[in-house]
Amino acid sequence: MNADLEKLKRIIAGSDNIVFFGGAGVSTESGIPDFRSADGLYSESQAPRGSFEPAYPPETILSHSFFMSHTKEFYRFYKDKMLYPDARPNDAHYALAELEKQGKLKAVITQNVDGLHTVAGSVNVLELHGTALRNICMTCNECYPLEKIITAEEIPQCSCGGIIKPDVVLYEEALDPSVMTKATKAIYNADALIVGGTSLNVYPAAGMINHYRGNKLILINKSETPYDRYADLIIRESIGLTLKTALLR
Ligand code: ZN
Repeated sequence: MNADLEKLKRIIAGSDNIVFFGGAGVSTESGIPDFRSADGLYSESQAPRGSFEPAYPPETILSHSFFMSHTKEFYRFYKDKMLYPDARPNDAHYALAELEKQGKLKAVITQNVDGLHTVAGSVNVLELHGTALRNICMTCNECYPLEKIITAEEIPQCSCGGIIKPDVVLYEEALDPSVMTKATKAIYNADALIVGGTSLNVYPAAGMINHYRGNKLILINKSETPYDRYADLIIRESIGLTLKTALLR
């Protein structure tokens, strides 16, 4: 085991209020690509040929106004690029669930909407961007599982006739303030903060990390982040392998 992993192991062993903050990189090891690397959607009249640019970039499609005005096209992209119903948790998800069971880890804060932390057994999961596993009728607030979205022909509809919307935070939409508050408090109170699989470039990730007051900031990310200079430990390896190895006795 190399020196960085040994250090991570020591930090984990000596901490009883660890908080994990994760992004898309946690789920790429489950085969879910970062949507920011996805191509956008071609409009109906503009089929992809040659060097044509997509008609809409992902950030446009995944916006509130696009959902309201182009619901069918939203769902075409969403089902194709955002949903991975067969994806399973990886070693990172399982290691974090295990740390929580041991009483060491107090919260998982995630920017992912795949629900894999919960599937892996984590209990205190703060999903900043919501979850694709929950879908709500815009008319009567009835809740539907992911299955309802996957099996819908085009636009998923409630039994009341209303349109069902995934409980994920779209561009132009505000984050749930109660989730934000819980996440901020958890970070503020953490003795060790492990940040993994995020470049910390996307709101609100960067701002939230600023609430950490401790001296055990661990960054596990394959590329550089703006927070590297504040980190007490930087690991550029696979997050699944890193966390799994750090938990080995
Ligand atoms: Zn309804």
